[in-house]
Amino acid sequence: MQFQVYQLSPLFTTLISVSKKPQLLAVHVAAQYGQTAFLNHVVAKYQADFDVPDNEGRSPLHWAAYKGFADTIRLLLFRDAWQGRQDKEGCTPLHWAAIRGNVEACTVLVHAGMKQELVAKDNAGFTPVQLASDKGHRHVALFLSNAQRTHSNNNCVNKLCHGKMADIGYAPILFCIIIILMVLFINSVLAAPNLTKVTAVVGLWGWTAVSLAIVSLIMFYKCSSKDPGYVKRQGDVSSHKDTEDLLLNIDLDSSPIWTGNWSQLCPTCKIIRPVRSKHCPTCKRCVEQFDHHCPWISNCVGKRNKRDFFVFLCLGTLTSLLAAAVGIQRIWTEIPVLPAEETWIHHVVVRHPGGVAFLLVDIIILLAATILTVSQATQIARNITTNEFANAIRYGYLRGPDGRFHNPYNHGCQKNCADFLIRGYTDDDEIAWPPLQQVAR
Ligand SMILES: [Zn+2]
Repeated sequence: MQFQVYQLSPLFTTLISVSKKPQLLAVHVAAQYGQTAFLNHVVAKYQADFDVPDNEGRSPLHWAAYKGFADTIRLLLFRDAWQGRQDKEGCTPLHWAAIRGNVEACTVLVHAGMKQELVAKDNAGFTPVQLASDKGHRHVALFLSNAQRTHSNNNCVNKLCHGKMADIGYAPILFCIIIILMVLFINSVLAAPNLTKVTAVVGLWGWTAVSLAIVSLIMFYKCSSKDPGYVKRQGDVSSHKDTEDLLLNIDLDSSPIWTGNWSQLCPTCKIIRPVRSKHCPTCKRCVEQFDHHCPWISNCVGKRNKRDFFVFLCLGTLTSLLAAAVGIQRIWTEIPVLPAEETWIHHVVVRHPGGVAFLLVDIIILLAATILTVSQATQIARNITTNEFANAIRYGYLRGPDGRFHNPYNHGCQKNCADFLIRGYTDDDEIAWPPLQQVAR
């Protein structure tokens, strides 16, 4: 590994040997060129000051942010570089990242930072948001203003409504919708006084739908309350597997066991996380095999609750399909021979408003649940998470030697599905923990 570092940057090793204050120059140049491994090496081996400002008052973090090297930013933040430092122009690293419009650099800085950096003004009185929109970086400006809004909601008088709402998510709303639908189904479809008495077959299907809805509610509670696979942080009570403890103990200074997958550093949780995990800004934790944060269950979907989430989706689809079929059958068979001036739609809406309201909401839920179930099922069959699917370009481990997309976790449809159904997740340790496998040998 050390050999690799030297081979990578002969220029920098020369810089170290010729300069009187080598680390001061080297850290800035390393940050400017995104030489993360080298930067880590000079900090670990020569105790170089990685937070020292240059003549313009810019630290290596300013340079990495300006050049958009997200991994270098991660390393510097991981090592506690000062995010709030303003250079002679009054710019923080976030100002520079916003000027260049680099989304990933801004994301890393914002997730690891605080509100002060978002509202900090440079000497001309501009905040990062204003600079991003002035330069025409619409995505970055939108992201930054959303982050600013989230922070102010958490702080201002709105805390009681907006702040809390963001924390709780929409789970209580979804819970109420399911309960209301169940009541409507029983009252206005199954036992409606103005409909004919249910036949044995329809009754059986109807009550099956009600039972499935109750099981769905149990699964809903399970996947929203379960730990989605939070990665342990330093100081957390030891309860997980040894491999995770080993990873926590890896020191960035002992480079021989560190192969330099810098995207694994979480500057917020201060951990080296497993490859497929991601930091969730809503839960403020890193989640193993992170799929997505689902506001409707108010929880992340990850390694430990993905199967529950998938079962919940399947049950949701099945229940709403069955209930819709029973509802349509009940109302349709009731429609009598109508006088010419009355349409069947008018008749149904006037006679069975509860049943119609139920069917409308139920069909919307059926469509949403079907789309989600199908997309999750295809991803499970390919053993890829929603996050990886959406951001494949960002992840080096999802690229083959030829630079094209290659998923190393795809063990074939049959094994992917079998692993998921039996264990709830696929065992990626051999691929996800390469440094540890080497140490063990
Ligand atoms: Zn994290």
